[in-house]
Amino acid sequence: MKLFKCQACGQDVYFENRFCGACGHALGYLPRAGIMTAVEPEGDVWRALAPKQPNLRYCANIEPDACNWLIPADQDEKFCIACRHNRTIPDLSVDNNLAHWRSMEFAKHRLFYTLIALRLPLKNLSEDSEHGLAFDFLADDPEKKSIVLTGHDAGLITINLKEADDAVREKLRTEMHEPYRTLLGHFRHEVGHHFWDILVRDAGRLEECRAIFGDDSQDYGDALKRHYAEGAPANWQDSFISAYATAHPWEDFAETWAHYLHIVDTLETASAFGLRIHPATTRNKALHADIVFDPHNAPSMQRIIDAWLPLTFAMNSLNRSMGHADLYPFILSEPVMKKLGFIHDIIRASAVPEKRPGKRGIFRRAFTASQPPASPNGPVAPPPVGPDIPAPMDPVVDPPIDPPDMPPPVESPPNDMPPEIPPSMPDEVPQPMHVG
Ligand SMILES: [Zn+2]
Ligand SMILES: [Zn+2]
Ligand SMILES: [Zn+2]
Repeated sequence: MKLFKCQACGQDVYFENRFCGACGHALGYLPRAGIMTAVEPEGDVWRALAPKQPNLRYCANIEPDACNWLIPADQDEKFCIACRHNRTIPDLSVDNNLAHWRSMEFAKHRLFYTLIALRLPLKNLSEDSEHGLAFDFLADDPEKKSIVLTGHDAGLITINLKEADDAVREKLRTEMHEPYRTLLGHFRHEVGHHFWDILVRDAGRLEECRAIFGDDSQDYGDALKRHYAEGAPANWQDSFISAYATAHPWEDFAETWAHYLHIVDTLETASAFGLRIHPATTRNKALHADIVFDPHNAPSMQRIIDAWLPLTFAMNSLNRSMGHADLYPFILSEPVMKKLGFIHDIIRASAVPEKRPGKRGIFRRAFTASQPPASPNGPVAPPPVGPDIPAPMDPVVDPPIDPPDMPPPVESPPNDMPPEIPPSMPDEVPQPMHVG
């Protein structure tokens, strides 16, 4: 993700901020422009301090503090382009539901940031009642003994609200022997199923995809049962990004898709901070990288991998220094990189032509922030992986599907403050080679 700043005072701000921690200006996100803007009231609408913007309104989900995105005031839409996809939100009068749903929206908005940055086609249910992308945020109902299964079905993504409970999610992660389980990871995985429908099945690329991910015509239900009964095959790391990816080619695709999103977003963040990885112990170019390109527009998967491997090595090492588990506890084998390459290709091929002028993402080389940003959720942490690097634990992902139905959506986001940054354009730098 890019870095953002308050146009009123120059303070750096987080994507989720509602107000500038330094000058108090209200803030909001302009999804089309891909920037945060400070805003000032103008009658019953808002005026952006970012240049060349129309008058604005906040998404209606600002009311429950679940969204900070802005909408042109002359549009009839009540919700922003991220919240417009909500079909069902939880009963906010129930204890903890509001807090958990906010956490969900936090992650969902980051998902949309990346989907928009990749210029992926996005339709909601009112635009495409058959295949529009929609979300049901549902809670288990102990009285009815109904359990919500997180999953995807024909454009509808259902997420069990309890996944937003850190203790519950950590328990599930441990029980399922997963090295990584996050809300953002769930969203990125589930939306991968949606884009398989659109960019593979409905785009005439089924055979091409099957050649890489395997034959998806095998019975999905049987495959999942087998996976949960027998676990992943031995040496799955040689060909899959996670143990769960071995369950069925659809899950392999969704898992790999999620990693593509993890990688481009994290690389953009690294680039925005001007990170350069030059380990003192080796001249191996595969472990060096100047991360100064926009991964959303990278010309090839190789370009992304060449930057990603050194970064994961550095990030995992940083985490280990703090006593944490690896930030990116996965290994990218050659077959997995090939799968990532397929996903890169279909995303690039589908990218909706950019409407706004200029390039996305400004990469700042000279980073002279005087103070670090305050984190929304506490300390901010980064990630990593590596070629001939210390191996992490073992990967896995999230569960299957099952949707119910319920009430309608709502809106609004969280907040927090941050620090401040300077500008300065970066440039493209040739990347070293990659590893195997
Ligand atoms: Zn400010
Ligand atoms: Zn919204
Ligand atoms: Zn799945």
